[in-house]
Amino acid sequence: MRKQTRMEQEQIMIGNPAPDYEVIVIGAGVAGIYQIKRLADLGIKATVLDAAPDLGGTWYWNRYPGARFDSESYTYGYSFSKELLGEWHWKERFSGQPENLRYLNHVADKFDLRKHMQFNCKVEAAHFDETDSLWRLRTEDGRELTGRFLIMATGLLSIPTLPRLEGMDSFKGRSFHTFYWPHEPVELAGKKVAVIGTGATGIQVIAEIADKVGDLTVFQRRPNWSAPLNNGPISEAEMAELRARYDEIFATCARTPGGFEHEPDRRGFWQVSREERVALWDRLYEHPGFAIWLRNFREIFMDDAANAEFSAYIADRIRRRVKDPAIAEKLIPRDHGFGVQRVPMETRYFEVYNRDNARLVDISETPLVRVTESGLRTTERDYDFDIIVYATGFDAITGAFDHIDIQGVGGEKLRDKWKDGPSTYLGMFIHGFPNLLMPAGPQSGSASTNYPRGIETGVNWCTDFLEHVWERGYMRAEATAEAEQRWTDHVIQMYSVMLMRKAKSWFTGYNSNIPGHEHGRTRYFVYNGGAPKYVSRISDVAAKGYEGIVLTSGSTPPATPSVTGIAGVAR
Ligand SMILES: Cc1cc2nc3c(=O)[nH]c(=O)nc-3n(C[C@H](O)[C@H](O)[C@H](O)COP(=O)(O)OP(=O)(O)OC[C@H]3O[C@@H](n4cnc5c(N)ncnc54)[C@H](O)[C@@H]3O)c2cc1C
Repeated sequence: MRKQTRMEQEQIMIGNPAPDYEVIVIGAGVAGIYQIKRLADLGIKATVLDAAPDLGGTWYWNRYPGARFDSESYTYGYSFSKELLGEWHWKERFSGQPENLRYLNHVADKFDLRKHMQFNCKVEAAHFDETDSLWRLRTEDGRELTGRFLIMATGLLSIPTLPRLEGMDSFKGRSFHTFYWPHEPVELAGKKVAVIGTGATGIQVIAEIADKVGDLTVFQRRPNWSAPLNNGPISEAEMAELRARYDEIFATCARTPGGFEHEPDRRGFWQVSREERVALWDRLYEHPGFAIWLRNFREIFMDDAANAEFSAYIADRIRRRVKDPAIAEKLIPRDHGFGVQRVPMETRYFEVYNRDNARLVDISETPLVRVTESGLRTTERDYDFDIIVYATGFDAITGAFDHIDIQGVGGEKLRDKWKDGPSTYLGMFIHGFPNLLMPAGPQSGSASTNYPRGIETGVNWCTDFLEHVWERGYMRAEATAEAEQRWTDHVIQMYSVMLMRKAKSWFTGYNSNIPGHEHGRTRYFVYNGGAPKYVSRISDVAAKGYEGIVLTSGSTPPATPSVTGIAGVAR
């Protein structure tokens, strides 16, 4: 039996029953798994709830062919356990969904975390109870749970969006969003398949299935810039070398803006000759992963002329790979430059359009009109399909929050507060919503970087914060309105120097399939200052005794320090 914390004992003594849990974590993905590990180590009564039938988050859901990392596998894995790092062998430099899910299961089993998790448990509502300073949750199956603190580990890409097309239910073949790709193998041989969408997911799935289907039709509204992933296997010997370098690898990730091993070229775009720039780009095009994006000159993110020159270089690469010049031109983006959106990485994607069984339909010219019983209708003609794949992305960053009826002080609804975009303190707190923490929330350091690096930072910070709160017997923690405003202004300010502010991307909250997310209504979703600056900011806040957060003792008398099971825990 777990010992009661000092605070729980006090609550019982004064006739105020403890909540069901000290902490409820929503989401059992990379963030939720690590969060419950930290809480379990502290002996805190906590649980993880997930709508899915099992753990893994992103890597549980997205089972479409081609789903894989664009982070180097060994920079994506957790860094918190030397033993784990020593025993796990990543099989590919950018590993695929099945291996990623196996990894997360291995972590949960190794640290015996499953016993803290509840699945098929979709949270519908979370209301803050001001009298008792706790969160009251309701799940889809009608259960009610209470928790002193609520940790939202609900994911930034966890709510899929479908196009707003008439007739979607009338289709007699099979159709699914890539997020819901079936668990059992889907028979593709000989089938006429449509893929709608050419974002990161579309680019992965299209390249993977082109040689497996009978006939492939890709419906593209806007092309995306994309460059080779240059994936490959990792041998035993290479893995041994990587293991020996893990300290150095994670130190580099902590030092770089994106949380990767890729460091920007700091020579200055205009300080080197055109020949030197092209020589760098030729090397980067062959280099694995995001190098082409993140080892590039920093000016491509901020300087229109630099960005245009580099975009022209990539456009030429596309022209060299696609045989039909007219198709090549359609695959080259015109409405944004390279790298102002998260860059989808590809494996022989452009060569798909050289195949006899593949065709591209430009729906910016001939828009989709509706789904029919037998396929899709554009303004030009009808197409018949056996399978329609919706690779239409996500209600990114705030979607999972909007899908829960979250009510804070005075019954204020979070989805109302955030209707024009999020405002947060450090990407971790929301004024008016006490005791709610987001280790990888909107405007935090996670969204624009290698996620798990940001997630570990966020989880460690939130856990340290909770220890601070528990040790001092506080019951209620809320960011001030001023602190939230300052942080949000800071986040907005960062956008002003970045070309990405103009892009129609999920970094700016654009999604034509969600009302209110049209272009021109920028949502300041991500922190663009880079990982080191973010870490420095949040560390500073902690060092100043959690400045900007009001801590109160709530309805119990001020508790004396040191909560059983918390003191002396080593990480
Ligand atoms: C195909 C794909 C590839 C990606 N590749 C990379 C990559 O290479 N590198 C990288 O850094 N990032 C990548 N990402 C981003 C990825 O989402 C993060 O890396 C990471 O997995 C996020 O972990 P998380 O725990 O924050 O959220 P998630 O993994 O999204 O987990 C959130 C969980 O919360 C649950 N949930 C949400 N709402 C509720 C609710 N109301 N009730 C109960 N449960 C709920 C969901 O079911 C889900 O299981 C990729 C994303 C996708 C979709």
